Amino acid sequence: MPTDGREAVRLCLHIGGAWVEAASGETFDSESPATGAVLAVVPDAGREDGRRAVKAAEQARQAMAALGVEERARLCEAIAERIEGRLDEVARTLSIEQGKPLREALGEVEFAARLYRDAAGYVRCLNTGVQPSPDPRKRVLTIRQPHGVVAVITPWNYPVGIPSEYLSAALATGNAVVWKPAPTTSLVASQLLQCLLDAGLPEGACNLVFGGSEVGEEIVANPGTRAVGFTGSFPVGNAVASQAGAKPLLLELGGNGPTIILDDADLDLAVEGAAFGCFSNAGQICQSSERVLVTPRVHDNVVSGLIGKAEAIRLGHPLDEETTMGPLNNEGVARKVDEHIADAIAKGATVVAGGERAGGFPTPLYYRPSVLDQVPRGSLIDDEETFGPVAPVIAVSDLDEAIEVANSCRYGLCCSVFTGSLRNAFCAAERLECGVVNVNETAAYWDGRTPFGGYSGKASGVGRLGGAATIESMTQLKSIVLDVGA
Ligand code: NAD
Repeated sequence: MPTDGREAVRLCLHIGGAWVEAASGETFDSESPATGAVLAVVPDAGREDGRRAVKAAEQARQAMAALGVEERARLCEAIAERIEGRLDEVARTLSIEQGKPLREALGEVEFAARLYRDAAGYVRCLNTGVQPSPDPRKRVLTIRQPHGVVAVITPWNYPVGIPSEYLSAALATGNAVVWKPAPTTSLVASQLLQCLLDAGLPEGACNLVFGGSEVGEEIVANPGTRAVGFTGSFPVGNAVASQAGAKPLLLELGGNGPTIILDDADLDLAVEGAAFGCFSNAGQICQSSERVLVTPRVHDNVVSGLIGKAEAIRLGHPLDEETTMGPLNNEGVARKVDEHIADAIAKGATVVAGGERAGGFPTPLYYRPSVLDQVPRGSLIDDEETFGPVAPVIAVSDLDEAIEVANSCRYGLCCSVFTGSLRNAFCAAERLECGVVNVNETAAYWDGRTPFGGYSGKASGVGRLGGAATIESMTQLKSIVLDVGA
């Protein structure tokens, strides 16, 4: 097995342009889920470090806001170039630290680089309206301005791509940032930040703090922070919303998105799309096909197709070229998958592939790609986000029942529908309570530009990411009213 020959590195926080230790001197380890080896010794930031980081960002915020649009756009393009220049190195770190196969890691790093280029393009043509006034003496125009300091808190499942969604738009629009990545992907976060710094980011414009809830709470609640961008789980997102109070919030939370396969679907396409949605990134995607809802005529063929796809997966070390699925990222995720599968079995589901952790690997985080049939309503898999390599098949009688099952869940992020009928496609797309519906496409498809986020009032978040939507989320609208006289 490739070990990647790494020695553990000692990381630092990045505050106000300097690499520094945590005030407490405490550290934690970032371990590879593939080997269990310690990859990095990471400063464990607390409230004091959070305060220092926000202060540094406040000091940089005027300089960032004063940069012209062309300077900000060029800065983003330079960041994209730096990321592309270190593509292999960053992708290898991502792979060994997060657990995803190198091929998927390369795709994520390329995607991240594109986000900075995109942000440059969006900000160069950011238009705002001039509005007719009921008063003939007045002229009303609007401009978009940065929030000032934005706290960005991100998860471990796409630890280069997701931060880049926020960082690219926040920096392109002239904000200063305090970023807290997930603890288990600290090393790759440090490498991403280095790309930003190498591109010539002004001192203090992006501050990096490592750690958990203590520093997270500080940077969200600190009065110096004017807006918050958070991607993570629903419970933590809820806590972040309370800490943030009335600040502008972009919350991208969990999902339990179904993939609906109707009798009139192209079955090869549907099975391919469902399997990709269930097993890509070992199922650790907010957009995963968390449930596969299947109508009677195609049920058996879908189940056998999914079994075939699960059996074709090569579970292994993420840097091994043959590997198509790596380990789960951490024990908490693996335990939740165990719990959800056991609950489904206890309530009547049948395991037709996998269904347990795989033995014979250096860590217990390798999970067999699993297919469960006859998953009952009301099971944990049906109600909650599983976030693992599981294809749970739930039988439904028709499209109406599929929509009822889909909407009965508290989440509402992304759904996918496979059908040969335009009528069914639109009927599903319009009635599903989620932010994104992919038709005849895997649930896990997202181009980074399409508006993406949770359905109002459900547990998948508030606001929209994606292209121009992220640019809007990272800015505030100001109206300027001019009295030009009679
Ligand atoms: P998590 O909620 O446990 O942690 C997310 C981040 O919040 C981490 O950096 C964590 O350290 C930090 N955090 C924890 N407690 C905090 C607090 N009290 N205040 C501030 N920050 C705090 O999520 P995770 O396990 O890292 O990621 C998986 C979750 O993220 C899944 O639910 C997944 O669906 C979701 N996710 C959503 C999207 C989306 O776009 N909607 C994308 C990717 C992941």
